[in-house]
Amino acid sequence: MADQLDPDCIFCKIVAGAIPASVVRETERTIAFRDINPQAPTHVLVVPKDHYPNAATLAAADPELAAAVLTEAAGVAADEKIADHGYRMIFNTGAGAGQTVFHAHVHVLGGAAFHEGMV
Ligand code: C5P
Repeated sequence: MADQLDPDCIFCKIVAGAIPASVVRETERTIAFRDINPQAPTHVLVVPKDHYPNAATLAAADPELAAAVLTEAAGVAADEKIADHGYRMIFNTGAGAGQTVFHAHVHVLGGAAFHEGMV
């Protein structure tokens, strides 16, 4: 079961329309918007509308919704025309890995050359 919207969660507020975001795609269960602090020419976040603290808890509780997030991330890459060159999907999971917003989201990053390797 999904958690209810968390009143203290910034992405829940974006989902609810309570704070603005530059939305690029939306479905019944997901929303995609531009990161306010972009790290690449294309930097979009895709989030499930239901609140889960990270991608692992989302995948465990609702694999269909996790798949929908990935499908939308691929859709962002197609819309932004970054798929041919290659792009990154990143799920920071846990504070130690750099997660700062504890509502599951995937970063879609592209439009620039990336260094080889893990980061
Ligand atoms: O993976 P992590 O939790 O660090 O990513 C959170 C991302 O959410 C950051 O890249 C930050 O710039 C972005 N953000 C945003 N809009 C907000 C708050 C955070 O795009 N209102």
